[in-house]
Amino acid sequence: MREVCFCGWAGQVADREPVYLGDGEWGLACPTCGHLDRLLAFPPAARRHLLEEARRRREGRADHTPTGRRPQAA
Ligand SMILES: [Zn+2]
Repeated sequence: MREVCFCGWAGQVADREPVYLGDGEWGLACPTCGHLDRLLAFPPAARRHLLEEARRRREGRADHTPTGRRPQAA
């Protein structure tokens, strides 16, 4: 599923940043402009799935550098 933001960013729905809104509510923010999508267009089950996917991708990005090695402070 491909999403396009008004700022020009385009990518997968789950490539956006998961943001906790409080009260058990989550949204996905555009990584470029921070525009928040509360996923109200999706039914609750699909919303939960997208948020889990976004969190998994975010953790993956944090844990691995592109080369698979820690960057060296040389
Ligand atoms: Zn945007």
